[in-house]
Amino acid sequence: MNIQWRDVRDPSAELHLHETMTFPNIVKEIGHVVAMSPVEVDLCASMHDDSCYVRGTLSADVTYRCSRCLQEFVERLDVPFCERFVKAAQEVVDDEDERIAVVGEEIDLEPWMEQAIILALPYRPLCEQECAGLCPVCGMNRNESSCNCNDERIDPRLADLAKFFEQN
Ligand SMILES: [Zn+2]
Ligand SMILES: [Zn+2]
Repeated sequence: MNIQWRDVRDPSAELHLHETMTFPNIVKEIGHVVAMSPVEVDLCASMHDDSCYVRGTLSADVTYRCSRCLQEFVERLDVPFCERFVKAAQEVVDDEDERIAVVGEEIDLEPWMEQAIILALPYRPLCEQECAGLCPVCGMNRNESSCNCNDERIDPRLADLAKFFEQN
């Protein structure tokens, strides 16, 4: 999705952007994201002084893999988007400057949208805040049933000893 500088030239006008876009890289790159619906892009662009402000929301249904029980679950993601672009003669990397320097006649929003979505994704998604996870011994999903495993880790030396007695 691109914005032409000439389309936002008039500071009294606002440019509305409504589109549905897919971001296949996110599913490829983020391990706990299993799938993502097309993203509903709802943005508004306008000029103030030398900058083009682009604000709005990016929304999608994201299928995550719970980091505790590994079950998949779907959750709505609404990402606020707010960036400030400035036309530049050459690309400058200035960490102090919050503006994004853009060379050429158009602003390519896609990489900035992708970045905003990635930053908004939970680092450790949980199907429920109190997800009980998997039993570390038998792997049973403790949200569904309980097992009889002893939670305390068995000392491996004792386990070997137990095996020794079992065999003899
Ligand atoms: Zn879970
Ligand atoms: Zn168990």
